[in-house]
Amino acid sequence: MLHHLANLSGSYQRNKIILLVKWVHGLYMRNDVSMWEHTPPLDYNLYWKKLNALKNNMRNGYNAMLGELNRLRIADLIWTSVAQPRHRMITWLAVQGRRLTKERILHLNIHVDNDICCLCRSQVMETQLHLFAHCTWLGQVKAEILSWGGMQVYPGEVRQVLEMIKQKN
Ligand SMILES: [Zn+2]
Repeated sequence: MLHHLANLSGSYQRNKIILLVKWVHGLYMRNDVSMWEHTPPLDYNLYWKKLNALKNNMRNGYNAMLGELNRLRIADLIWTSVAQPRHRMITWLAVQGRRLTKERILHLNIHVDNDICCLCRSQVMETQLHLFAHCTWLGQVKAEILSWGGMQVYPGEVRQVLEMIKQKN
């Protein structure tokens, strides 16, 4: 019985809040769809104007803390429908420097038996830079694929290569 009354009370409170929101929306916001786009007219209630000023201060403060966002210019080269989802994800991680190489695994304090590149015989640590720019085995594979496809790709780190492609087009 007590539980039932508590549920009724909770339901009543929720309905009361919904009614209040509908009332405020109908009275003050009228045709504005979003609270964030609403600007109170001059003849509106003082408290409503102060509430909106607070909203604007919060938004400005949030934007100031967020700072200037640098939109990644090469994102459209990565998130293209031409590439398979798996390749998009690999490229995105590579651009962020978050491919799970042995260097990164060690950085995460996870044990690996050895940290050298298992693809070539250069006896250097498997880093992202090595895999995408310096690994001789991957370089040969890449050269064969490019030759087969009749394409030319610049040497370098993934991000540099994508930025060069972006500049060219
Ligand atoms: Zn290698």
